[in-house]
Amino acid sequence: STGAHPAPDVPARLTVLAGPTAVGKGTVSADVRARYPQVWLSVSATTRAPRPGEVHGVHYLFVTSEEFDSLVAEGQMLEWAVVHGRNRYGTPRGPVEEHLAAGVPTLLEIDLQGARQVRASMPDARFVFLAPPSFEELERRLVGRGTEDAEERERRLATARVELAAESEFDVTIVNDDVHRATDELVSHMGLEAKGAVGR
Ligand code: 5GP
Repeated sequence: STGAHPAPDVPARLTVLAGPTAVGKGTVSADVRARYPQVWLSVSATTRAPRPGEVHGVHYLFVTSEEFDSLVAEGQMLEWAVVHGRNRYGTPRGPVEEHLAAGVPTLLEIDLQGARQVRASMPDARFVFLAPPSFEELERRLVGRGTEDAEERERRLATARVELAAESEFDVTIVNDDVHRATDELVSHMGLEAKGAVGR
């Protein structure tokens, strides 16, 4: 094992995880964070308000619209997008470049528009599409997590229908039928060894 900060003799790989809303990108990323601390998960900036339990600097950098404007104007965003027709989300460029330069395997969990921007600027990154077992399952998960009202849910499902068609643009598809399994598959695509299925 190479530890948390392997020597930067081989450049670390940037991996981009995208997929439709409610597919479980957040859950898989949290599982990566918990079980694979050698992976650095980029912290996005967003203009959305924090949900209960979300911590500034850990889950997101919660910024004002004006602060977001400045980050974009200063060229500090690797990519950014308006997601679900509402709030802006973006990946601060500096920390990504620093971690890659230090040889740390880096993961971005972003939406499809952002993934396309990263593909344009960093074509050597690996692009992973997280897919639901079915559209019906996606709908069930979105209702189940109860974080959106009916109108917002419909908006997100409409987006998801379009986004599911983007799978072919990606290097790999991982079906999120089981979070731990999907995580292990993701880290193996990052060139890291998946942990054994201890206790499962
Ligand atoms: P949520 O508001 O549920 O945390 O996230 C909504 C959507 O924003 C998710 O699809 C998530 O992947 C996307 N997202 C989160 N951070 C970023 C980012 O930095 N850039 C882009 N383009 N999308 C992001």
